[in-house]
Amino acid sequence: MARCYSCNNTLHKNNQSWEHIIPSALGSSIKSRRLLCRTCNEAAGREIDKALYDFCKPWILQYQVQPARSARTDPFQPCPGTPLPVKDREQVNRAISKTCFNFYYWKNRAPISEPTPLLCPHLLGLSTEFLASRPFHWIVLLGDPLCKLLVAYVELFGEAGFFVRLSTHYTERAIRQLLVYDPCNKQQIGNLPEPAVCRVFDQVGRGWHH
Ligand SMILES: [Zn+2]
Repeated sequence: MARCYSCNNTLHKNNQSWEHIIPSALGSSIKSRRLLCRTCNEAAGREIDKALYDFCKPWILQYQVQPARSARTDPFQPCPGTPLPVKDREQVNRAISKTCFNFYYWKNRAPISEPTPLLCPHLLGLSTEFLASRPFHWIVLLGDPLCKLLVAYVELFGEAGFFVRLSTHYTERAIRQLLVYDPCNKQQIGNLPEPAVCRVFDQVGRGWHH
């Protein structure tokens, strides 16, 4: 029986909810009913997903990305060069962490030993140095039981990159998992090498398994 990974309540037909791995407002259609209960899902949507939408709004407009659940409407005018709103950085960090936890539980359905609490993520940096040239979303998840680390690299629209430390007590199997998503065409992209920035992990961790 699946459980909500935030509050640990058992998921059943009365409290299930569709949780998008990457928020639908960023154009992603990948979702699962085995991640969050409706209460946690709605709270997260209210409190943190909105902040991530505001943060990404310049690129959402620039690339004319439509939310996954709404019909296509008249295209927005591109507005390249719009400065990023940063007033809700803490909320943005939490939304990024939630995306990483979503991806982990969606792919692995295994518990995380002592996960970083959802409300207190460790954001290690915001990078603009190593980013892809196309407006794709990337999630790279690396788990190493020898180093006891579960970390992720998240890139949005090929414009903003985040390192997230999900656990420092990771004891599950070694994993190295990649998701690349094209929010303009609503599809996963296969056969792409992971971003060069992830080589940094190789110098830190040992025992990665491909
Ligand atoms: Zn819950």
